[in-house]
Amino acid sequence: MRISYSRCSTYQHCPQQYKLQYIDRIPLPRAVELEFGSAVHAALKFMYDSRHVAVPSLDDVVNEFAKAWQEIPPDEDGEARRIHFEQGVLLLTRHYEKHAAREQGRFTAATEEFFNIPFDGEHTLTGRIDRVDILPDNEIEVIDYKTSRRMPPQPTMEKDAQLAIYRMAADVLYPGRKVTTTLLYVFHDYEMSTQQTPEFLAEKQEEIRDAIAGIEAGKFGPKIGPHCDWCGYQAHCHLFRAPEVPPDLRDVDMAALLAEYADLDAQSKQAEQRLGVLKQQIHDYLDRCKTERVASGGFVVERRTSQRVTSWDDARLRELLSPLGLWEKITQVSTTALRDLLKSRQLSREEKQHVESAATYSEIRILRVKRPRDSEEMDDE
Ligand code: SF4
Repeated sequence: MRISYSRCSTYQHCPQQYKLQYIDRIPLPRAVELEFGSAVHAALKFMYDSRHVAVPSLDDVVNEFAKAWQEIPPDEDGEARRIHFEQGVLLLTRHYEKHAAREQGRFTAATEEFFNIPFDGEHTLTGRIDRVDILPDNEIEVIDYKTSRRMPPQPTMEKDAQLAIYRMAADVLYPGRKVTTTLLYVFHDYEMSTQQTPEFLAEKQEEIRDAIAGIEAGKFGPKIGPHCDWCGYQAHCHLFRAPEVPPDLRDVDMAALLAEYADLDAQSKQAEQRLGVLKQQIHDYLDRCKTERVASGGFVVERRTSQRVTSWDDARLRELLSPLGLWEKITQVSTTALRDLLKSRQLSREEKQHVESAATYSEIRILRVKRPRDSEEMDDE
């Protein structure tokens, strides 16, 4: 099978979305953010194109953006289009001012470099790397541009699966070179560089294998989650259509239930926050009065101190309890340790399946209620 990062990532987010997009080939509605992203990519490709003898002028880079932007048919929302265009000019100007003067000895080897690398013998990973730079010490930097406003937290960026695939490609395209991968958030002019460990790459390869296995087995069930908010296929997804309500449920006022749930949830969060503040103030009061008990207005507060175990020294415990025949009684299978073991490369695929079959799964059902006006979300079990 030939699989690209975007296909793989779509399948991982929602197998049904994958089917609608890549098997049923239902066209996605136009999204101005995506069109904006491709126009910015076109301008950056032009700016860094290794065929230029010198870095093009800022005017030329902006013109390239304007040219790409004009090729996109205008939509009804002319105002959104105007705002996006102005933002594009602004962020490209800022990027140019900061990066046009290249670091001594750094040069761009390729822009939008296509790759096609073998995976597990029978599959092919494909994709396009935004930019590959050769660094002064002959190392390689693989750069991926992100043009969305949303920037994930650092740990999420470090685990970026797209960079992992680019790293695998760079190892094939530029063998023997040390590779750094970088996400460049153009909107925020923020760069995050990482060098993935072999364990991390092995983990990502396992995820790609799982996606390929799912696609080949025809598993295309819907997977609901926060990504649904940005899914262009909501109109085709049965989860987003009003369900057929059985007659005996027709008098249930679901709108009222949800409104009350949303209000109580907001109140309980507020109360939780306030409780934290009050607790801290009471502790401060007791500390400053150097007492553990205060009575006031008919209320009494007493503070007691107790000790809570945070972890155990397993080796020491074993040494102490084994001669007593008690060690086996207190040893429990740790879910965290098993999860780590399943993620690691210590077990073969078949062994992992055996271990997984020994687990008992219980379903956690999470409600995610959104307020109609401010789209504030609440999760609860
Ligand atoms: S709306 Fe959500 S569940 Fe439905 S296809 Fe899109 S991503 Fe999948």
